[in-house]
Amino acid sequence: MLIFINGENSVLRKQQLGNGKLAKWLAAIFLASTLLVVVLDLAGSRQQGESEARNQAAGLSELLEERLSSGLRETSLILKSASDSNLVQQLLNNRLLSQEQQQRLDLQMRSKLRQMPYLKQIDILDSTCYVLYSSEKSGPASQLKTDYCRWYHRNGAPDSNFTSTRKEQAQNGIVLVQKLLNQDDEVVGMVVGVLDKRFFQAEVSKLPVGHYGEILVLDQRQMLLASWPEYGDNNGQPLNEMQSSEVLDRHDNYLQFRASSILDQEVRLYSSRLMEGFPFRVIVGIAERDFTRAYNDKATLALLAWLFTAGLTLLILRSHLASIRQNQLLQASAARIRDSEEKARLTLDTAPVALILVATDSMRIMRANAPARDMLQLPAKPAGHEAKGDLLDLPLQLSPVTDWLASGEVVSNREVELEREDRSKLWAIVSVEVMPLQQIPTALIALYDISERKALEQELEEKNRLLNEMAITDPLTRLCNRRHADQALKEELQRCERYSQPMSVAVFDIDHFKQFNDSFGHQAGDNVLLAVANAAVDCTRNTDICARIGGEEFLVLFPCTRLRDAEKVMARIQQVLAGTVFPFTKDKVTFSGGITDWRPGDTPSAILNRADKLLYQAKMAGRDLMLSDGNED
Ligand code: GH3
Ligand code: MG
Ligand code: MG
Repeated sequence: MLIFINGENSVLRKQQLGNGKLAKWLAAIFLASTLLVVVLDLAGSRQQGESEARNQAAGLSELLEERLSSGLRETSLILKSASDSNLVQQLLNNRLLSQEQQQRLDLQMRSKLRQMPYLKQIDILDSTCYVLYSSEKSGPASQLKTDYCRWYHRNGAPDSNFTSTRKEQAQNGIVLVQKLLNQDDEVVGMVVGVLDKRFFQAEVSKLPVGHYGEILVLDQRQMLLASWPEYGDNNGQPLNEMQSSEVLDRHDNYLQFRASSILDQEVRLYSSRLMEGFPFRVIVGIAERDFTRAYNDKATLALLAWLFTAGLTLLILRSHLASIRQNQLLQASAARIRDSEEKARLTLDTAPVALILVATDSMRIMRANAPARDMLQLPAKPAGHEAKGDLLDLPLQLSPVTDWLASGEVVSNREVELEREDRSKLWAIVSVEVMPLQQIPTALIALYDISERKALEQELEEKNRLLNEMAITDPLTRLCNRRHADQALKEELQRCERYSQPMSVAVFDIDHFKQFNDSFGHQAGDNVLLAVANAAVDCTRNTDICARIGGEEFLVLFPCTRLRDAEKVMARIQQVLAGTVFPFTKDKVTFSGGITDWRPGDTPSAILNRADKLLYQAKMAGRDLMLSDGNED
């Protein structure tokens, strides 16, 4: 119950709200900056990927160009070496060879063919394009002559060699022509080699251009000689010029550009290169898809990593905000507790009844309001208890409340006389309510002081008692009066009837009483009356009832007493009275009376009548006499 949180609550709350906002901003800045780093890194990667692809295209096109031209040069050299043969010179000079010479020439040519696997045919022609020798026994393809004969005749004695393809030659391959010279260095014919087109395809197929890459080898008429993937010969049609969307590099025989392929529309970075000394063009394209794949993979990975980081950051932020929220709730509930404690304290202090809050395990008073402090004479705040806040922390010494608390007895509105620490007492209505507060077993004790009411009640009781006594007492002698004697006689008779118990009744009257009054005054008479009453009281038991039933007439009721015993008591009274000395006279005081006992069916008047009769008889008989009508003898 008694927890108090010090400090400026609102300041703390503002500070925590500030912390929450700051955390959100920091998380946002962190996520934005990591995203920026990822994006910049990916942009760099993309650029790097593109430049690598450009290098790759350039390198591969150069490599392919080198391989193809070296293959072609090698073939040219083979053809040149063939022309150096004497048999060839002889064939050109004589146009005819013997059978044996023809066979040797054929062997020589075939050995040349074996030097270059893709070289599949060698023909030797004269200056009129007449075929002098053909390695193909089925005969030279006469139409083969067309191009290079035209070349030969148009250029007269051309310096360079001739290389060509044409539509109808596509199946046969590339034609390489080497000039033949005589001893005077005059051109007298030519060696024609046919290189299988698969030579190009084999070289093209060896190049690694990626999954979606493209390699084209074209001749001067845009005819497709080889390609990767293998597109075939494009139905013998020349390819259209590729429309570059962006030229990246250009010099001499080299062009690098971005374009979508005219064959499969794939966007690629192409490097196009003209072959040195041969009318062919190699084009190597690296597909954007290929070089962006690594970038895409990296982007996906980076994005996933960033999303993971973002998720983790949000989780951390959430738990941080939750802990802030939890703190706020904790402080709010602490404030509520403090408010309710303030209210409770106010209620306690302003309640009209005395209220005490007691820790029952230590039996110490934690709190007491002003009425309670007044009632129990407690200080407002004990000295030397600063450490305990505004707790009283005093021992409870209030009997029997401490006993009730110790035994766990629940008490509600009980009127009880309390004993305080200083042994003084007071009456109060007490309620005890047990209630655990802040896990401490506590009891709230309410005390309502009724001491004044109790005193008034006691006074009233005493007065009532006196009134009652007066109602049944003779004021002079303090004996019972006539009314009470009648009532007692009635009750005793009932008991006798119920239990058949004996009972005796004596009625007596002072002899010559009048003369005391007359001779010595009324006061003397009263003294005589008192002496008789005292003698009667002294000689009877407490259970006997002595009453003054007339001026100087008395009655003694002997419950459970036989007549004979009553007679003895009366005789003793007579005796005591006879011994009593009065200051005003030497005469003895005597009385006369009758004693009777209960008989079944007796009424009060019946029994009194009998006694009165005996009294009368005793007076008649001379006084100082007690007569009885005993029936038991
Ligand atoms: P007896 O022997 O025949 O009884 O004669 P007695 O004088 O006692 O009888 P009597 O009835 O003539 O007298 C009774 C007197 O008692 C009359 C009255 O003045 C007196 N008396 C009655 N009550 C009181 C009383 O309370 N105080 C005093 N001092 N006298 C009383
Ligand atoms: Mg008398
Ligand atoms: Mg009388």
